[in-house]
Amino acid sequence: MMIMMKTDTGYEKRYYFGIDIGGTSVKAAVFDESDNTVGTYEFATDKEDNGSHILNDVADFVSSWMNENGADASVIGGIGIGVPGAVLDDGTVNGCVNLGWGVVNVKAELERLTGIRTVAGNDANVAALGEYAGYYAGLSSFFFVTLGTGVGGGLIMNGRPVCGINGAAAEIGHLPIVTDEDRMCTCGKKGCLEQAASATGIVHEALKRLNSASDSSAAVSSLQKYDKAALTAKDVFDEAKAGDIVAGSVIDRAAEYLGRGIACVACAVNPECIVIGGGMAAAGEYFLDKVRASYRANVFYPMKDTPIVKAELGNDAGVYGAAHLVMPSSNNERK
Ligand SMILES: [Zn+2]
Repeated sequence: MMIMMKTDTGYEKRYYFGIDIGGTSVKAAVFDESDNTVGTYEFATDKEDNGSHILNDVADFVSSWMNENGADASVIGGIGIGVPGAVLDDGTVNGCVNLGWGVVNVKAELERLTGIRTVAGNDANVAALGEYAGYYAGLSSFFFVTLGTGVGGGLIMNGRPVCGINGAAAEIGHLPIVTDEDRMCTCGKKGCLEQAASATGIVHEALKRLNSASDSSAAVSSLQKYDKAALTAKDVFDEAKAGDIVAGSVIDRAAEYLGRGIACVACAVNPECIVIGGGMAAAGEYFLDKVRASYRANVFYPMKDTPIVKAELGNDAGVYGAAHLVMPSSNNERK
């Protein structure tokens, strides 16, 4: 399909690429300058050879989109890209374990390959920016929590993602607050928030309870009917909602720690709004109510009424936020 690059008045439109690199697939979307989605795309993440083909694949996607749509570089406003790792202000990623990357300057490399201005950001920060730009633009401060296999966070202050000097600002998954943890976190520490509050952490805790000889409720738990090797966080949520004691206590523990973690964030930055996204947000109000209760019980009192709400954008937050890294209206471009 050919896209008309000129409007009736002859004014030339501009287009923005939003790219979200995940461990399994690369999601991409193209937006026009009025924020309309022109197209959405997805292709597999090629992790062969330490992920060294990924940025080439992104560049190939960009150039084939431009060819198919008759677009030259003059109508492309930029490429925004989110990656699963800490990203410095100059676009350097200091290791992405999920992709096999060591130190890669994503911005410089993609600009070299495409000739198009590029801005790179951490995936959680970028998702936060997407949710903010889509539903909360105008708030002075905004904190986004993403709950999935891990726990991530993104802080938006005055319309811009806060990255921190090491690119690791808002990484609340590694807040050291879980006091009864016996495993090591993927980061090499013990007792990180994501060990209790991620989907992975919930499954691990459920299995630990089920295997506990001293826990009399374990033997009669409805979780016993599941194949232990295939147990998911959703199974634990479902059984908790149905009244199972073991599943319920695992979810309560996750919500308790998450509420504490968010309270720590609030004490540091006092955001106007806290938004929960990621796959686990699908657990809905059942889980959010528990998180809110823990938050209110743990936070410094002037901030106890901070709204904690479910994200609106779902999986689209990544590509939408990435495009907003380069859209001039959002004023997010880092120098
Ligand atoms: Zn950790």
